Amino acid sequence: MSLTQTIELPNGVKYEQPLGLFINNEWVNSVDGGSFEVINPTTEKVITSVQEASEKDVDIAVKAARAAFEGEWSQVTPQDRGRYLNNLADLFEKNRLLLASVEALDNGKAVSEAQGDVQAAANVFRYYGGWADKVHGKVIDTAPGKFNYTKQEPVGVCGQIIPWNFPILMWSWKIGPAIATGNVVIIKSAEQTPLSALVAATLIKEAGFPPGVINVISGLGRVAGAAISAHMDIDKVAFTGSTPVGRMIMKAAANSNLKKVTLELGGKSPNIVFDDANVDDAISWVNFGIFFNHGQVCCAGSRIYVQEGIYDKFVEAFKARITKNVVGDPFHPETFQGPQVSQLQFDRVMSYIEHGKQEGAKIECGGGRHGTSGYFIQPTIFSNVTEDMKIMQEEIFGPVASIAKFKTLDDAIRIGNNTTFGLASAVHTTSLATAIDVSNRLKAGTVWINTYNALHHQLPFGGYKESGIGRELGKAALANYTQTKTVCINLAGGKD
Ligand code: ADP
Repeated sequence: MSLTQTIELPNGVKYEQPLGLFINNEWVNSVDGGSFEVINPTTEKVITSVQEASEKDVDIAVKAARAAFEGEWSQVTPQDRGRYLNNLADLFEKNRLLLASVEALDNGKAVSEAQGDVQAAANVFRYYGGWADKVHGKVIDTAPGKFNYTKQEPVGVCGQIIPWNFPILMWSWKIGPAIATGNVVIIKSAEQTPLSALVAATLIKEAGFPPGVINVISGLGRVAGAAISAHMDIDKVAFTGSTPVGRMIMKAAANSNLKKVTLELGGKSPNIVFDDANVDDAISWVNFGIFFNHGQVCCAGSRIYVQEGIYDKFVEAFKARITKNVVGDPFHPETFQGPQVSQLQFDRVMSYIEHGKQEGAKIECGGGRHGTSGYFIQPTIFSNVTEDMKIMQEEIFGPVASIAKFKTLDDAIRIGNNTTFGLASAVHTTSLATAIDVSNRLKAGTVWINTYNALHHQLPFGGYKESGIGRELGKAALANYTQTKTVCINLAGGKD
């Protein structure tokens, strides 16, 4: 099978799409010759087929990574690790339109949004490139005759499994901190969106990375993903995706070599609007909180709680606001919302909408398919949603907002925390006291005040409760990829 295919995109971008597995800085076919189709969510047509990694291919990638980790990569200075990451950042910026266009083709997000993702990915590489030569241990005095120090060592061979909602951005969140701290990686993209990860892989060698340091494979979760989680020579697995799969990965890690696990999982984040909020601003943030990336965001503000004094006015104004969310072709410059990523996701979201209707929530707008082809769903608002309804409890991962009314600040905290998740949350108020009080009491890894989705490479991000283990981004992510070695020297000789 040919390892590339020429693809021409609606915006005039023409490029060579790699289709193979990127192992040891080489493009290879899968050992068993397996491949799977990649579907364009805008047209529902097949774009191409990519090589599918089996357990055997994962094993080959692990061997290459292990050889790099014990060999050439262990001799590379921290400064050079930083240099390579900075090179990768430059190459991402240079190829921003290409990477963004591939993302739009494969994932369905607007090219303009995807360009933001590519820039954010470059920022992540540059940020962790800066950390590469700043991670170090400590000297700890215990007694005059002793000299003790700690070292922050890399964990080793890291398996990284990423989702389809931000393919290129998640690629950077995973690779940046792992590489900065001296690890090697095998990264598996999601089967719905393998294309941008493969285009990004073409930049690895050019950035200067030795063979085996960053290996990029396409494959199915239950095959390649499961093989990574259960592999006896992978030292750590980092995963972003759904909570049920996160549980499976943890079990596989526990049942194999007890590899270290970090998980960034689902959410059902409360977005709380108080009577004293600036309502226009709050509506913009609430809209962005739930409809950004077509609702396919783990930290989406999917539970919207509005205080009773402004509830009716808010719902009317929110309905008016979402008519401005242009739904359509990701290659159209005006588009805000493209198609859902796959038929499966389209069906899942539509079935939640049906549930909401049957459970008695009021449809304020939307609730159906947009157009006749492609996985487009109308932006949908449910009001009068009660706490026990499925649409208020479960992660829908689509353009579906659930709104409910609350009376007091204490009510807002109680219902805000009434979830098994704890990824993010937001508060809209003009009172500093309310903002701080509520943010102290919400059980979530992030609280946004008068904003939403304000992710930044310097700020740690991750979940309380069933939303995950560990933190990505910021200095915090370095801890996921380092282990502390304590060295204790007996200077005096003899016994104590
Ligand atoms: P979603 O349900 O939104 O598609 P998933 O959690 O299933 O999200 O997928 C996220 C990532 O997890 C993808 O890369 C997918 O291939 C991978 N994955 C799915 N199932 C497994 C599994 N059993 N073991 C390891 N990885 C998996």
